[in-house]
Amino acid sequence: MTSSFSHEHSPRAQVDIDLDAIRHNLTLLGARAPGSQVMAVVKADAYGHGALPVARAAVEAGASWLGTCSLGEALALREAGITTRLFSWLDAPEADFAPGIEAGVDLGVSSTGELSRIAAATPAGTRARVHLKIDTGLSRNGCPPAEWAGLVEAAAAEPRIDVVAVWSHLACADEPGHPSIDLQAKRFADAYDVARAAGLDPMRHLANSAALLTRPDLHFDLVRPGIAMYGLNPVPQDEDLRPAMTFRSAVALVKRIEAGESVSYGHTWTASRDTTLALVPAGYADGVPRSLSGRMDVFLGGRRRQVAGRVCMDQLVVDCGDDEPAVGDEVVLFGAGTRGEPTAREWADKLGTIDYEIVTSMYRPRVRRRYLGERS
Ligand SMILES: *Cc1c(COP(=O)(O)O)cnc(C)c1O
Repeated sequence: MTSSFSHEHSPRAQVDIDLDAIRHNLTLLGARAPGSQVMAVVKADAYGHGALPVARAAVEAGASWLGTCSLGEALALREAGITTRLFSWLDAPEADFAPGIEAGVDLGVSSTGELSRIAAATPAGTRARVHLKIDTGLSRNGCPPAEWAGLVEAAAAEPRIDVVAVWSHLACADEPGHPSIDLQAKRFADAYDVARAAGLDPMRHLANSAALLTRPDLHFDLVRPGIAMYGLNPVPQDEDLRPAMTFRSAVALVKRIEAGESVSYGHTWTASRDTTLALVPAGYADGVPRSLSGRMDVFLGGRRRQVAGRVCMDQLVVDCGDDEPAVGDEVVLFGAGTRGEPTAREWADKLGTIDYEIVTSMYRPRVRRRYLGERS
């Protein structure tokens, strides 16, 4: 299926999402946590891969929960017909919880203020499903330990609240052995004990992708993989994960220039010999970071080739030497890396960031998204 995201009738660049890769990755992750349910994290439009097709693929591969950041993201999935359990955990302070409660979305709760607002939005005789979040040391959202007993008691006493789970999030799970992991695990255990002492019997969930892959002792009832489902490995150990996203374009024009001619704005690159240039109609407006100018390759005609000069808003130029690519030839900007093409990780390393940021920034109105392996 071709998505309708793009207004371009003939796209100059496209992002392909391999749903078979997503199913493969999620099956692998589920097998690594055999005693736990799996919540596929599809926040931020499934890390730029498209929330709805990814959610469907995740459910096909065994996810029994879907996690989003905002309630709006969860409701969009519900409205599109997703019946799987949904969990959302962070909204604007003025968010209206009523539609979420009505749609049966589980809500993350970090404070008694939030709890009261959820209870107030819950019709009498019904119960909102909440997951109480303990801040075990990430110091972002979550209830600080000093206020935890108060939150637990308020939740236990409120007839319109059903405490489904106690949960938290790790700061350094991608650095296996980091001492904060055990400290957070200890605080998590203490917080759970407080909930039990208050008469609650909640589920527990803590593990992101990195903890899923490296800390089986922290899997508990439910694991919450995000990045690894998209095939990007957050930990320094080999895993059979397949990157699901490929960013590609095609040669739009081929020309020969003479030695001494320069290329693109600012003339930062000059041909040291006569050479053939291939023009690629994808630029920084399409997701190619301009700051990769002078230090990026693309995969074209069976090998990697250097981008010559600056990446422009709409186009970039590839130095092909004495090879003669044809107009229409495929150009891979990043992909799985299996043919030697650059990867999102390679871009991230060059840019001083993480591959999460690369893939989540690939939603561009001019770039078509195409889904491979769609079943429904
Ligand atoms: C984003 C997120 C995850 C997934 O993290 P990954 O590192 O992508 O696996 C899990 N839980 C919460 C609360 C998150 O915000």
